[in-house]
Amino acid sequence: MSGEEHDTGHSGTGHSESGHRGGHGEGLLKGLATTFKTMVSPAHTQQYPDVAPDLPPRSRGVIALLAENCTVCMLCARECPDWCIYIDSHKEEVQVPGAARARQRNVLDRFDIDFSLCMYCGICVEVCPFDALYWSPEFEYAEYDIRNLLHDKEHLGEWMASVPPPPAHDPNGEPAKEETAAARKAAAPGRPARGATT
Ligand code: SF4
Ligand code: SF4
Repeated sequence: MSGEEHDTGHSGTGHSESGHRGGHGEGLLKGLATTFKTMVSPAHTQQYPDVAPDLPPRSRGVIALLAENCTVCMLCARECPDWCIYIDSHKEEVQVPGAARARQRNVLDRFDIDFSLCMYCGICVEVCPFDALYWSPEFEYAEYDIRNLLHDKEHLGEWMASVPPPPAHDPNGEPAKEETAAARKAAAPGRPARGATT
């Protein structure tokens, strides 16, 4: 049994050796053809900064903050793997008309991102439940002093101007839950919406 295997293996090896020789020759020709093609094709060197690169609109350039949407829930700072988001806040009492007691709300005092530590993973943008963080494709913010890569609330807010508008909804996609609920409510105005408390 083992002898048979040995014989078969031996003759197989001889066959594959000649095959390999052919394969090597073919591979060499293919390699040379690629080299020649690359030699005669025009260079693709980016001419930045003379010519601005044609980046996809949703490139991860810098993180923009819409401070009005931030509720200081701290999710982004907690989930950031680099711990490079710094948030400070204080509580403020708000008197709501008709309410028995004053309500408390968080006021954002500080929101900094240190882009010298950030690895552009996008987790903060993904986890923010209140749409307060966005990607801007702007990338020209290199600094001579690394300390200037700490962007504060105002600086992060300025990046909002370069955030692209959200993509259009897929006409064949599922409607948003809110839209469905509103349509249901409009169809039966006399009945309270499902899940609504009385
Ligand atoms: S992109 Fe990633 S590393 Fe940068 S601030 Fe957000 S969570 Fe942190
Ligand atoms: S996750 Fe969003 S809402 Fe919460 S602190 Fe961060 S930016 Fe503000």
